[in-house]
Amino acid sequence: NTPIHIIGGGLAGSEAAWQIASAGVPVVLHEMRPVRGTEAHKTESLAELVCSNSFRSDDAETNAVGILHAEMRLAGSLIMRCADAHQVPAGGALAVDRDGFAARVTTEIENHPLIEIRREEVEGLPPRDWGSTIIATGPLTAPALADAIRAETGEDALAFFDAIAPIVHFDTIDMDKAWFQSRYDKVGPGGTGKDYINCPLDKEQYLAFIAALVEGGRVEFKEWEGTPYFDGCLPIEVMAERGPETLRHGPMKPMGLTNAHNPDVKAYAVVQLRQDNALGTLYNMVGFQTKLRYGEQAGIFRTIPGLENAEFARLGGLHRNTYLDSPRLLDRALRLKSRPDLRFAGQITGCEGYVESAAIGLLAGRFAAAEARGQEAAPPPATTAMGAILSHITGGHLSGVEESGKRSFQPMNVNFGLFPPVEVPKVPRVEGKRIRGKEKTDLRRRAMSARALADCAEWLGLSRVSAAAE
Ligand code: FAD
Repeated sequence: NTPIHIIGGGLAGSEAAWQIASAGVPVVLHEMRPVRGTEAHKTESLAELVCSNSFRSDDAETNAVGILHAEMRLAGSLIMRCADAHQVPAGGALAVDRDGFAARVTTEIENHPLIEIRREEVEGLPPRDWGSTIIATGPLTAPALADAIRAETGEDALAFFDAIAPIVHFDTIDMDKAWFQSRYDKVGPGGTGKDYINCPLDKEQYLAFIAALVEGGRVEFKEWEGTPYFDGCLPIEVMAERGPETLRHGPMKPMGLTNAHNPDVKAYAVVQLRQDNALGTLYNMVGFQTKLRYGEQAGIFRTIPGLENAEFARLGGLHRNTYLDSPRLLDRALRLKSRPDLRFAGQITGCEGYVESAAIGLLAGRFAAAEARGQEAAPPPATTAMGAILSHITGGHLSGVEESGKRSFQPMNVNFGLFPPVEVPKVPRVEGKRIRGKEKTDLRRRAMSARALADCAEWLGLSRVSAAAE
């Protein structure tokens, strides 16, 4: 009965420990707090929430993270059970009493007969004689272990900051104004010469856009984060501050592009969007990493022609965040390809958020437990929320389509753009009118939700009747 070791008792590590122990396999959980702290944690509790107390929307019909909640409940998640037990009123969101929640997770883990907790920092890669090990040390992984992971995976494979550009749902881009074209029609490996979506701005629109960027409210770096600016990865508002022409000579340069809708008029500046997922449902705004406040980003970006009605799957950001280039390094069961005895889980794999981190902990735990019992660990279907976020991390394997060419991997929350498209049932016209807009989106989301929950129940071996009763 060799135990599985888990390093890090945060959201992911606690959930992984619970899943493994629930499968009858012993666990040793190594958590460094309170022996050594992080810049953000304040207590010695397991699963401490370092910032907001919200697990976001609990709507399992039209919200992707709500579906993830529902799937995790079906899978017997400890994190979801403790969150439900310590819920505080928050409208349609699942928010928790943070101390009660973390204390409950800690007690449940402490009291489980198959889990041993060791309060110690793991200062390097675990020795091979530990056997199967899950590394779930989070965005603030202690430096000695981070250095060791970097030595194992390579210089570029472990990032210490994310540089997140906003991502837009393709079907909300107005292609009557935007057009597909690569700069100078260049055909790269796997490309077509039409790999980018281009949104044109005239001089007046451009100058108004620059003014809005300069005036926009920003999120300041915390003192301990430092200021990770380096040329080549500057936030757009910092570039805009360097002079009104800077962006037009950088990410917004109009060269090599001809407006397909208006070939005779040269755009003064162009915003380019690049395909972000294998399914082609998401596009990121190239070079648009930003520290603008979330509340201001959508309004400013919707002044760009073609993006007036854009819905954002992710807004931009720049944070201290330790995470792996997972699509390159991890296999579909979250094992490090160069050392399959090591699995990764939680935010360090490149998911984003409390719930997603716990979900990846849940999967890593299930995969490790199945392996320990000599069973095949089948990943969740790509149509489920868990499958969608796993697919983002491991690079599109589950959707059956490989990611094309080079892509710079950035962390992401679960969102509908990560789900394979769904056939929406035909609905009768209401008073002779076709349904559109939000109603149509909701219909599609409900269909994705029903498919996700049914497929998740099947994956877990639950009958639909008992799943519905949960
Ligand atoms: P963590 O919960 O951080 O757990 C990792 C654990 O590993 C910690 O307990 C740590 O002490 C331990 N550890 C680290 N190194 C070692 C080592 N060498 N040996 C032993 N133990 C070790 N997400 C949201 O959804 N909402 C938010 O409001 C939010 N705010 C955030 C604010 C900050 C400042 C940061 C950094 C992240 C935030 N996140 C937020 C993102 C993310 O969801 C959380 O960081 C989440 O806690 C990640 O879960 P995890 O289990 O991967 O890591």
